[in-house]
Amino acid sequence: MRELKRGFTYYRQHPGEPFVNRGLDSERLLVAASPSDDIADSHWLRADVDHHFVREALAAGVDYRDNVEITEVAITKRGVKLNGHQFDFVIDASGPGGFLARQLAIPSGLARTHTRSALVFSHFKDVKTMPEVVPNLPEGPYPDDWAAVHHIVDGGWMYALRFDNGVTSAGFALAPAGLAAVTRSKAPDAAALWRLLLDRYPMISAAFGDATPTRPIAFRARIQHRLTRATGERWALMPHAYAFVDPLFSTGIAWSFRAIERLALCFEDGLPDAKALARYAALLHAEADQIDRLVAGAYDAMARFDLFAAHAMIYFATVSYAEVRQRLVKADPWSGFLGVGDPVLEPLPRASQRRLGRKGFAQWVASAIAPRNIAGLADPAAHNLYPVDVVVLVGRPAVGGLRREGIIAAPPARGGGGGPCPPHARGGPGGGGAWGSLPAWTPACMAPAAATRRSSTPPVPLSTHGARPEWSRT
Ligand SMILES: Cc1cc2nc3c(=O)[nH]c(=O)nc-3n(C[C@H](O)[C@H](O)[C@H](O)COP(=O)(O)OP(=O)(O)OC[C@H]3O[C@@H](n4cnc5c(N)ncnc54)[C@H](O)[C@@H]3O)c2cc1C
Repeated sequence: MRELKRGFTYYRQHPGEPFVNRGLDSERLLVAASPSDDIADSHWLRADVDHHFVREALAAGVDYRDNVEITEVAITKRGVKLNGHQFDFVIDASGPGGFLARQLAIPSGLARTHTRSALVFSHFKDVKTMPEVVPNLPEGPYPDDWAAVHHIVDGGWMYALRFDNGVTSAGFALAPAGLAAVTRSKAPDAAALWRLLLDRYPMISAAFGDATPTRPIAFRARIQHRLTRATGERWALMPHAYAFVDPLFSTGIAWSFRAIERLALCFEDGLPDAKALARYAALLHAEADQIDRLVAGAYDAMARFDLFAAHAMIYFATVSYAEVRQRLVKADPWSGFLGVGDPVLEPLPRASQRRLGRKGFAQWVASAIAPRNIAGLADPAAHNLYPVDVVVLVGRPAVGGLRREGIIAAPPARGGGGGPCPPHARGGPGGGGAWGSLPAWTPACMAPAAATRRSSTPPVPLSTHGARPEWSRT
């Protein structure tokens, strides 16, 4: 079960004030990840996705054991013993469960990180759409709700992801100040906290006030974790076992996929040697820091929507550039995630945190991302409504070494399978993005009409409100 994820939608919500429709000056940001419904990404329901991967693994001959809890490990020079069974190597994918972290007493690395947030969350039925609660907003590049929807609130943000079974996954991630603004309790009752937050933000209340949770509302006091080691002799951690920052910017699954590719390469000639493992660990370390800086900067910027929207451009410039390079030019799993290793992009989250709030911040972001801005981002003429603009893409031959002819002619480097409109277009795990972190841009699939649009003019909508009246996929 899933639903279209055409892009990333953001609104700023203020305590006690309804969201105000100020037309193109509304506190609203829409960044498309695809030019049309047909090749759009989709939300992934975890149970479905895991089921898909398990079937693929079985088909590939993997000896899969269901419902097994690993409780014991012994790692020696000769091998690894897990629950009494002998193996050559262990890759720990236990996520925040932190199996090896506990067994090997790996010290925490949380002190080096900046982001801190609590989470209150559940799944809900009967959540209203944006046009139902704030009608007549200017048309965006896609219908606002067919996206990863974010409401920026004081000291935090809320996500709302609609699935095609009428259920919406939603939660508030709150920095310590954001939580303290609504409750003094360090361990608040989750349902009561949810109600307090709805009472505080009228538009969110209008959307969620009549919604019913389909499972108990839950609270976690802190969602971040981080370790000081990611590998050792005969063991390696998956990213989510090593570190987690925050769901803002949806980096989790895309990062995991990158790590899986790297580990697969490490095993190509047998067991990975110390050098390969050190390379893997060094990248995870740098990437966890990079995600943390980007997200911490976004939290710092949340008080002012213009600053938040400008800071977010660093994320969108980074992933759109990486996606286009990956699909059309070169797929190198060892290239750093989220701009790590790129001399232009890597310094930006840190620099942005330092400059935040200084005069001309938005202009600084625009010029800082310019060498990698293949998507026409940070353009005041766009009024924070960014379609996938293939004209900008092919019209900037010099950006980051991507050549106009190559972009037009090249088949996707991967994730597609050769046809002009690859299977990832329907959100299959073989391509697209992981929860859309990598926009599903495929110029070969662009309609000719899209290819004649001019850049830096107000965005032309590529799909329209009302084109799909029901929350179902056909
Ligand atoms: C609130 C929230 C929202 C998120 N939103 C997004 C998003 O929008 N996009 C995105 O890309 N990422 C998102 N993420 C991150 C994403 O959930 C992770 O990147 C992803 O779950 C990592 O997958 P994984 O399989 O490595 O680990 P996990 O999903 O954590 O799975 C670990 C599994 O290991 C099992 N396990 C633990 N210990 C043991 C043991 N001893 N024996 C056997 N099994 C064990 C657990 O039961 C669990 O099933 C979000 C995370 C959170 C917390």
